[in-house]
Amino acid sequence: MRRIGLAFVTTLLLVCAATAQQPPAPPPPLVDWDKVQIKTTDLGNNTYMLEGQGGNITVAVGTDGIIMVDGQFAPLSDKIKAAIKAISPLPIKYLINTHYHGDHTGGNENFAKDGVTVVAHDNLRVRLAAGTIQGLTGNKIAPRPAEALPKQTYFGGSITLEVGGRKAILTYVANAHTDGDTWVYFPDANVLCTGDTSNNLKKYQNIDWANGGDVRGMIRAQDAYLKAGNDQTKIVVGHGPLASKKDVAEFRAMLVTARDRVEKLFNEGKTEDEVIAAKPLADLDATWARNPQDAIGNTRNVYNSFKRF
Ligand SMILES: [Zn+2]
Repeated sequence: MRRIGLAFVTTLLLVCAATAQQPPAPPPPLVDWDKVQIKTTDLGNNTYMLEGQGGNITVAVGTDGIIMVDGQFAPLSDKIKAAIKAISPLPIKYLINTHYHGDHTGGNENFAKDGVTVVAHDNLRVRLAAGTIQGLTGNKIAPRPAEALPKQTYFGGSITLEVGGRKAILTYVANAHTDGDTWVYFPDANVLCTGDTSNNLKKYQNIDWANGGDVRGMIRAQDAYLKAGNDQTKIVVGHGPLASKKDVAEFRAMLVTARDRVEKLFNEGKTEDEVIAAKPLADLDATWARNPQDAIGNTRNVYNSFKRF
């Protein structure tokens, strides 16, 4: 397995697993990869959710192959492959990346070398190839090697992948968590995968505005999820347990309130520091922030959404 520098991995952990933080960032938690276990949940109709460390994974088994959504960190690839083998001996044909963050794409090389085709929005390919800088922390993420880049990309709208009778509908949502977000719907299982455009942690979600993220796109994403499927749709979010439409509606309401209040202050000409000092989201913070840094980071994320244009 290709070794990844610890600093690189821990930087990636900060991007997605933690809510936004104020610089200077505290030392990231060290992950003992050997202790991480992959938990498999049967979602019905040969479709499964896998949880380990990093973004949730979805696995859909067809008659002659497998489609998976997201691949967590590289050091976990062997465990993830073993968990999938325990579900089905069939080969994985496609690995869909919901967005570029390393806790979702870290395993790309390890799956690609087995002949798996990595599929994503083209903006994701560009971000991985170029490397990125995080807006809140200033942390730099190095470019990824060619083997980690998606070999099949699309530029907008929806595309459908088919493997052994299973269909995955991939849809682009512009400028939400990043500028390369794909959500995936498996109609025969009524399972929807949001990547990090949604979470079910009852916690603020990072909005990567330095790489095209925007609270308004986050809201558009929730709108799409509420329209898709039906009340029984099983929603695999980027982080947290399996979600329902009710969870998405709650998350959306938080985003809308945050957008409305911060946009008003932004339009009045308030600076970022003035908006943070005004604590416009104090009532939301009580529920959605784990600590004062979360609250500040979220306000900065929403504020900076309006500075993109
Ligand atoms: Zn993310």
